[in-house]
Amino acid sequence: MAMKNVIATPEYRQDTLLEEWWNSCEKGNLLPALKKHWRIFVLSVFGNNHDPGKEERLAHKFLFRPMEYFLCRQDPEVVFEELKAKNMPSQLCGKVFKTGEPTYSCRDCANDPTCVLCIDCFQNGAHKNHRYKMNTSGGGGYCDCGDQEAWTSHPFCNLHSPNEVNQDEKNPIETLPVDLTDRASALFMAALQYIVEVLTWNQCDNLPSDLQVEGELNDTYITMLFNDEVHTFDQVIKTLQRAVKHCTAQQAREFATLVDREGRATVYRGCFTSCEQCRTIIDQSTSRHGSKPLKVQVMHTVVVAHQTFCLRLMVWLQKMIEKSDGLRRLFCLLSMKPQEDGKSLMEKLLLHDTQLWKVARILSHQLLMAGVLMDQECKKQFAVIFTKWYPNVMRDFARDDHDHEVCVASLSVQIYTVPSLARMLVTDHDLLDVILVPFLAACEEKKNANGVLSLSKADRTPSFKRACFMLYDLKYALLCKPTSDEWSDKLRESFLRGHQSFLKLLKMMQGMDEVKRQTGMHLEYEPEWEGAFNLQMRVDDVISSFTEWCSTDRTVYIEAYKQAAQMLSQCRDTTQKSEQHTVCGHTVKCLKYDVQSQPVSIHLPLSRYLAGLHVYMGDYNLQFGCPELNVQGLDPVKMIEPPLKVQVLIAQSQAGLWRRNGYALLNQIYFYHNVKCRQEMYDKDILMLQIGASAVDSNEFLIHLLNRYGLLLWIRPEYDVPTGQDDNVRQTIMLAEEFLNLLLIILGERYVPGLGQVTHEDTLKREVIHLLCISPMSNSELSKNLPDSTNLKADIEDAIHAVANFRKPTSVGTAGSGKFELKNECYKEFNPYFYHYCRTDQSQAEETQIKRKKEEKSANHTLPPPVPPKFTPQFAQISNLLQSDVLVHILSLILQRSVAVRSRSWSETQLDRVLHLIGLALHEQRRNIHEGNHNFDFIGKALKGEPNFTQLLESLVTDPKNISHDSTKDLLSWILQKFIEVRQMTSSAEANGPVEQLASSSKEENEAAKKRKARLAAKRKEKIIAKISQMQQNFIRDNADLFESTDADSSLTRGTSEMDISESAHHETPVALGKYQSLPCSIGITKATCILCQEEQEISHNSRAMVLAGFVQRSTVMSQCKSRNPTDGENLDPLFTSSDLHVGSFTNSCGHTMHADCWQSFFQAILVKERRRLSRIPHSLSYNIVQLEYLCPLCESLSNTVIPLVPALHSLVTDSDLCDVNLSFGDWLDGLQKTVKNATKQESTSASKGDPFPFLPSSLSSITKMMADSVASNFQLLWQYVNNTKGGRFSESLMEMMKKFAKDVYSFGLGVDPDDMNHRVSIVAWNTCAYTIINLEQYLRYENKPLFGASPSRNVDCINALVKFAAVCSHIMPQEVIKKHCLRLLSGLLSNGLGEGDDPQCIIDVDMFHYLVAVTMALPSLYTEGTTASNLPLNSLNNQYILELVLTAHIVQVMLLHDRSQDGEEGGMEMENDADSVALMSMYTEIRRKAGCLPPSNNDPLPWQLTRHIKRAVLPFLRCATVLYHNLTGVPIPAQLQEWTEEVEPFCSYLSLPTSFSELFLNQGELLERVVNQWCSSDVLRSRLYSASSRSVVSYPLPVNHLIDLPDDYSQLINQISSFTCPSSKGNDSQLPTMCLVCGLVVCSQSYCCQTEIKDMKVGAATEHTYRCGAGVGILLRVRECQIVLLAGTKGCFIPAPYVDSYGETDQGLRRGNPLHLCKDSYKNLQKMWFTHCIPETVAHNIESHMNLMSIHWQHL
Ligand SMILES: [Zn+2]
Ligand SMILES: [Zn+2]
Ligand SMILES: [Zn+2]
Ligand SMILES: [Zn+2]
Ligand SMILES: [Zn+2]
Ligand SMILES: [Zn+2]
Ligand SMILES: [Zn+2]
Repeated sequence: MAMKNVIATPEYRQDTLLEEWWNSCEKGNLLPALKKHWRIFVLSVFGNNHDPGKEERLAHKFLFRPMEYFLCRQDPEVVFEELKAKNMPSQLCGKVFKTGEPTYSCRDCANDPTCVLCIDCFQNGAHKNHRYKMNTSGGGGYCDCGDQEAWTSHPFCNLHSPNEVNQDEKNPIETLPVDLTDRASALFMAALQYIVEVLTWNQCDNLPSDLQVEGELNDTYITMLFNDEVHTFDQVIKTLQRAVKHCTAQQAREFATLVDREGRATVYRGCFTSCEQCRTIIDQSTSRHGSKPLKVQVMHTVVVAHQTFCLRLMVWLQKMIEKSDGLRRLFCLLSMKPQEDGKSLMEKLLLHDTQLWKVARILSHQLLMAGVLMDQECKKQFAVIFTKWYPNVMRDFARDDHDHEVCVASLSVQIYTVPSLARMLVTDHDLLDVILVPFLAACEEKKNANGVLSLSKADRTPSFKRACFMLYDLKYALLCKPTSDEWSDKLRESFLRGHQSFLKLLKMMQGMDEVKRQTGMHLEYEPEWEGAFNLQMRVDDVISSFTEWCSTDRTVYIEAYKQAAQMLSQCRDTTQKSEQHTVCGHTVKCLKYDVQSQPVSIHLPLSRYLAGLHVYMGDYNLQFGCPELNVQGLDPVKMIEPPLKVQVLIAQSQAGLWRRNGYALLNQIYFYHNVKCRQEMYDKDILMLQIGASAVDSNEFLIHLLNRYGLLLWIRPEYDVPTGQDDNVRQTIMLAEEFLNLLLIILGERYVPGLGQVTHEDTLKREVIHLLCISPMSNSELSKNLPDSTNLKADIEDAIHAVANFRKPTSVGTAGSGKFELKNECYKEFNPYFYHYCRTDQSQAEETQIKRKKEEKSANHTLPPPVPPKFTPQFAQISNLLQSDVLVHILSLILQRSVAVRSRSWSETQLDRVLHLIGLALHEQRRNIHEGNHNFDFIGKALKGEPNFTQLLESLVTDPKNISHDSTKDLLSWILQKFIEVRQMTSSAEANGPVEQLASSSKEENEAAKKRKARLAAKRKEKIIAKISQMQQNFIRDNADLFESTDADSSLTRGTSEMDISESAHHETPVALGKYQSLPCSIGITKATCILCQEEQEISHNSRAMVLAGFVQRSTVMSQCKSRNPTDGENLDPLFTSSDLHVGSFTNSCGHTMHADCWQSFFQAILVKERRRLSRIPHSLSYNIVQLEYLCPLCESLSNTVIPLVPALHSLVTDSDLCDVNLSFGDWLDGLQKTVKNATKQESTSASKGDPFPFLPSSLSSITKMMADSVASNFQLLWQYVNNTKGGRFSESLMEMMKKFAKDVYSFGLGVDPDDMNHRVSIVAWNTCAYTIINLEQYLRYENKPLFGASPSRNVDCINALVKFAAVCSHIMPQEVIKKHCLRLLSGLLSNGLGEGDDPQCIIDVDMFHYLVAVTMALPSLYTEGTTASNLPLNSLNNQYILELVLTAHIVQVMLLHDRSQDGEEGGMEMENDADSVALMSMYTEIRRKAGCLPPSNNDPLPWQLTRHIKRAVLPFLRCATVLYHNLTGVPIPAQLQEWTEEVEPFCSYLSLPTSFSELFLNQGELLERVVNQWCSSDVLRSRLYSASSRSVVSYPLPVNHLIDLPDDYSQLINQISSFTCPSSKGNDSQLPTMCLVCGLVVCSQSYCCQTEIKDMKVGAATEHTYRCGAGVGILLRVRECQIVLLAGTKGCFIPAPYVDSYGETDQGLRRGNPLHLCKDSYKNLQKMWFTHCIPETVAHNIESHMNLMSIHWQHL
């Protein structure tokens, strides 16, 4: 986008300019002078679309440097240094947090959770040894270190400890030179004025006249795009590509990112018409479908230039004021100085905030924070100003559409959380009212006809949601509650004003979302309930703060109580009628209300608030109805009405009466009891009922309850007589149960300070005890279920530790969390009727406790009601309920109904509750007796009447026929016992005798009955067990086939197991190669059951083929060169595998076998099904059908191919082909070399260059012609078996499966499209065999496990199948191709075949084990004739010589690379230099000399050291070769190799190799010497070894890769990553920095800024990196989320990061914020998952179990 007319940079003289400025400054009109300069230069710097670097330079030169000179009058650097020296830096750290930086809060010392430290202050301070929480910042906010008000102790870290001089005494401005002060005042003022003027200017096409350039403006305009919250990134990108000329996708993406980050972006420059055109297109194309269009403006360049300059100027000002606290104070005072119109500049900026775009806001807030908020004095003034404009700020915020943190409203947290400021503002500036009045105004709009808030979804506008932010401010303002002596009259007055407003809010909430029982039809739509609960939860904290404030001052308390009571009485329905009821002779006037037909609301915050206040009465010696609290109409009966209705509503709902009201009601009831809400809902309702019980006559109270529950009929004895119409008896029974439950709660729940004689700690402990009675819990489970889990305070933790023991995870080495278990002595506190238990909790807890009692083997299994604490005096009357006539009547009634033969209204639950009530009464009486109080006489009342309680209880104990639960029976006996005990305590001995007798006799009888029953039960149980086992047997017999096949391993008939072999071969160590090869045996699978059709099948070459489910993937886990990208599969020549193993193909299997045809029809069926499904919902599977993926039908392992099972290879050849061949290694080598040379010769005659097959094979006879006769015949003999194979061809189905597998390995292993005829097919099959063996070897080495006997059978079977397949896969290829491969392989080592292509270039570039596998498999085809072959790599002499040759080459590699290996040669005992070592040493010297090494030096090893090194270095190769030849030949493994060993000798003897490696070189003929010389004399080798080379060099033994090391402390990681910025957008913050655990690279994940494309698919940075680093498989850490992302292709999943807190729990998402440390075991498991290629599998399984993962676009991560 070229500019039509670039504005020429004008010239000026700095000294003239400065002179002019100084003069104007003295005259007091600096601003016009500045403007004169700026109107020219601002446009030329910022209006020319310079590149950012140039713009920066020009801005400095023309705009900022003159100002600095103006300010300093000399070299600014010198002056700034002086200022700095005099500066008394603020004690505040004040570091402003960037997104993602770690923050720390001390749970022991922070005043509130908003007080945080930066990492430097944290690490240099005392809190790191306290209990702390960590978090990642969402950006904004600053470090509170140094703020004395933020911390109860240790306010300073070592970096910010206070200066000796008390700076509060001195005005920092006085430290500045006077003239500087004058100039700074003028400059700051002018700059601020300019900023305010430009930023508040609202015209797009011109500027204030004094900034307008003289003469004609050139007509360059800008199309400016602004951000909004409506349009998505993709919409914006698409629109831009359409609207902006020549806009590429990449540019559009950059614009969109910029708009999102800065709030606006210039998308087009040009003349007005074209800008307007662009704007119109954007506007039109985004306003379709009736949505709000994107905001676009055409602006004149000059306007934008000045706006840009303003932003820079703000940054510059911030830099200036940070240089000295004097300048800072000066700036602050100026900015707050009122202007002509009475408003200060800062106020103007504040009020204009929401008109600004994002980055302008952010910079102005930062200027504020760096200025006023860092200066204690100014902060105070600012707080006053902010509060003054609070209503305006909040009004603007409500209308705005930006996030809260980019609005100036968010600064409230910085002010109102400072206790001294908040107190000052509340006292002197009515802060509470200031906040509440605008909030009430916002609520006003939401009121319904009854004056109650109605927050339905339809009119839940964002503005109300935004208004709710004010509740946070209110919470902050109340955080610091005054102590009793801090109250002043002014504070009281102001507080009570705010209190009154707050009550108005509660009044509006009282009665929200009323519900009415639905009869007949179900509700058509779900009524609204969420809005009200959201508001309630936000108000919760405020409510408790208000209550706490009221509780510290008597005057305030009395006034507040009266206000609340008055407000409540206004809510009352005055029209409510009353009616009279009489029970047990007590007549009571009750209020008339029918919960079943009249509306009820679950929202009663005003009633509840009053209840919360009420408990403090005792503190001030007040009581209900005392003259000081005289409030008209304060009637306890009316006060209990609303909460009572709620209890009845819930009881009726439990009884099934509200079914038609749907889920809305159930949700309301659920949240009413939920731990998050109950404190200010359920708990307070109970409290209110308890207040009622303490203030109303007990009988009267109970009659009110019975009336409301509709149970007045039920308590009549005659109710039990059937009348014929008893539809609702069942409901009545349940309501009665609920009623009794409520009584238990009112009487038993006394753990509220002020109600019972308990402390806050007692309450917490009791909560914990009851949670742990359900089951032991982990720390997070516990805190989730405790109130206020976000609370920073450690009191919850203290409570937990007081009652429970922490038990670490049981088994060592397993990752997992430990659990808390209740201390033994606490179990007695268990109350099954604990009011915070839901039904399931209750039954679970009871079950657990009964089980525990049984395990304890205590004779007594009773769980009696625990002794409750005492009520405080003013609530003491509640216990009177227990001896009231009405209750005693009810108890007696239910006992009678329990005894009765028939009762229609009785239930065992009722009895259980009655027994608990009696238990409570007995506890109470006992306590009263102890205290000498005889007014309480439950026993007396209970013994009146006929039958009395004793009689009733006794008859129940003796004949518990109606009782089915043992626990109730146990309780019954316990109650009777207790009853007798307490009775004895109360009364004279007269009644004792008979009762005692009766009791004991009944007890004995009871025992006898129990025993009898137990015997019967045992017998019955025996019978049942017998019956069950009979049934099981029958079932197993009927399904015999099923039962066999379920155990996969037992279905495979394995060849003689390895163990057996070692037994039989004990005396003679088996040898796998060479002349003395031992006899083979059958290894691997010989017979298998198909998991699909359950038929068993012999594995053979000419019958129905069997296959293993398998999975092939590209892999980089063993790469020795992580920086190297995997080569593109299309262009890869895989014949020689690079020694750095940077990419390979890995194959594994779950080990499950199927018939080939069974599998085919199974797979076909999935295909059909998925095609159908795919058309409906794409990507709906955990596996990708397009990639041929499927899940193993038995174990659901992810698979993408099948591996054909080939029978043991030796069974395919006749024994005679191992005839005696007498051929030396030298002659063998000579023969091969001749073959290669002959072939090469033919090549040089052929003209075709660049042919992938430069070799033409020659016939065997043409080679033997060139040999001596004896050699020739033996050489001939060596290849003879080739055409001798017995047994005929492979079956059709086996051939088909071989082709299928070869094709899959080729396409998945190289990541290319399938191509049957590609010459590389067989090579890839050999390579996957080699790669898989190396991976297994490395893994076992890493774990120090033996090669054999330690891996699971599925791995053993898989490798066996792979080796055999590699051996026969030449059968599916044209022989010519294999021959050519073989020739190329041989020429690589025997001729100068290396160095021709680009890879490999010399001997050290070749991975020798891959080479060994390929050449072993290819060699038999070397001289075959005809197009197909049936030759197998079983010639033991060939194999032996190949191995010797390759090992020799490998040893040469080791010698050449010796000085690069950094293994600890120093350690170990010094050893003798034996002959072998000496010989090797001389070869070492020779080889290195030829390769051009420097002459021997100190670095060279001693001979014995060299030998030791070589042995160590070649061991992995020998281990791999052993696996290969064992599976190839079937020769059993010797016993030594079934244990972990680091010796090479057992491997050498198995492989028929000399243990003295020098023998490999010596006496092998000069040919070998020549070959070795040839390897060493390569120029490429020389440059690779001794000069800087583009490719790195490996060292042997290859180290086993592992994931990167992670720091122990998680916050270290957070901090490390916080400095990471997005690499593609000029150092901006990255939202989701994600770290590759393989290579440690950090990428900017899931963000448009770093999106790229792979194969036409848009991918995020993580996917892109994974593609390069892990060939599509990745394991990455999202540092800020503390979670691991596993990626496999386009799928992925999240798992917790391997970091745990002190309770052993992970914290995915850092929600709890406990300090986290690395869990080594979990990390090791991850390491294993990665190294053994299990990531795709894990991903598939995770997706399978969490279907929601499917919806994530993993490739965009
Ligand atoms: Zn700090
Ligand atoms: Zn600090
Ligand atoms: Zn602390
Ligand atoms: Zn089958
Ligand atoms: Zn399986
Ligand atoms: Zn980025
Ligand atoms: Zn990586």
